[in-house]
Amino acid sequence: MNKVLIIRYGEIILKGLNRPYFEKKLAKHIEANLRDLGTFKVRKSNAVFFLDIDGYDEKEVIERVKKVFGIVSVSPTYAFKVGDIEDICNEALKYTKEKIGGDKDITFKVESRRSDKRYPLKSPEIARLVGGYILNNMENVKVDVHNPDVVIHVDIRDQVYIYSEKIKGYGGLPLGTNGKAMLLLSGGIDSPVAGWMMAKRGVEIEAIHYHSYPFTSERAKEKVIDLARKLSTYCGKIKLHCVNLLPIQKEINEKCPEEEMTILSRRFMMKIAEKLAVKESCNALITGENIGQVASQTIQGLTVTNASVDIPVFRPLIAFDKIDIMDIARKIDTYETSILPYEDCCTVFLPKRPVTKPKVDRILISEQRLDVDQLIEKAVETVEVIEISVEEE
Ligand code: ATP
Ligand code: MG
Repeated sequence: MNKVLIIRYGEIILKGLNRPYFEKKLAKHIEANLRDLGTFKVRKSNAVFFLDIDGYDEKEVIERVKKVFGIVSVSPTYAFKVGDIEDICNEALKYTKEKIGGDKDITFKVESRRSDKRYPLKSPEIARLVGGYILNNMENVKVDVHNPDVVIHVDIRDQVYIYSEKIKGYGGLPLGTNGKAMLLLSGGIDSPVAGWMMAKRGVEIEAIHYHSYPFTSERAKEKVIDLARKLSTYCGKIKLHCVNLLPIQKEINEKCPEEEMTILSRRFMMKIAEKLAVKESCNALITGENIGQVASQTIQGLTVTNASVDIPVFRPLIAFDKIDIMDIARKIDTYETSILPYEDCCTVFLPKRPVTKPKVDRILISEQRLDVDQLIEKAVETVEVIEISVEEE
């Protein structure tokens, strides 16, 4: 028997004539995510993938494959040559003993599928014979066709495949099938989740982070690099642009009303991000903004922030409750890093009473006191680019 991983994908099946393009991308991402474990080759057959994993650490392989967007579920599987029904019964018994051998009073059923119609027995008959054989040769099992503890699947294709587990993936679409966007990545909980969600829909991610060095520490920047690295286990290589916002914040602090500090610096963040996005061929910006979460995230606040740029801004978390965002952050393993208590550039000049209902025309008047273009130009000149990939860990 060989160990094989069955990999199922969802939405891609609906892609009609484009399906081969999506399948090719998906296969490439699976192989890339496994590159440092060995050379793997995905085989395609009837809308599923097969991956030979004999001799590899099954858990580790599954962990990696699960992180590839576009995959709905995977099943660790035993595969062997198609033979007569006695053969299949014996192998199925061996598999079941290994799977639930020691456990007491387990209920099971066998489900069979015959993709290779040349096989002389029909699916229900195969299921009945295999199920009967297991029942007669194991003591602690009972058949329950309605609500079994374990379903033993026997699929007859180019080989016989036996499996019982379906481990869920994240779904979505293969990375890079929906363009590229620039993620405004803070050290907080929300923005990594926002980036992850867009990447799950096939959007390739670049990131931009603003710091206020030396007011913010080197450690705070390291934290953002760590977050980008966590994201890169899903998103592949991420180009992280680090920009010092301090000169701009100082300028705003000196020349504009104190209560407009946050909203004005937010607009600068957006504009600089847009500039770099265009330069890097990104089609949109992504933020972790959320309606009502903090003072700057009122409808009016978001309107004024939004009005600073021309390219689309995606805010996938706009209507999520914080609790639900935190759940995703835990699931994708960014939470523990996000809650580390290092300073953020926004807290450096935090106004005592920030405007919660800013108006675009008022904000534009304040901005006239600043040389916006030149400030942006200078900030972009000092950008530090860090290429983040998993291998650097
Ligand atoms: P987060 O948890 O993502 O920091 P937040 O709830 O703290 O979000 P804000 O601080 O108001 O909200 O930031 C809103 C969004 O603006 C963030 O989700 C992020 O996309 C962007 N942003 C904020 N600060 C920075 C920063 N220092 N660098 C890059 N982007 C930032
Ligand atoms: Mg924040």
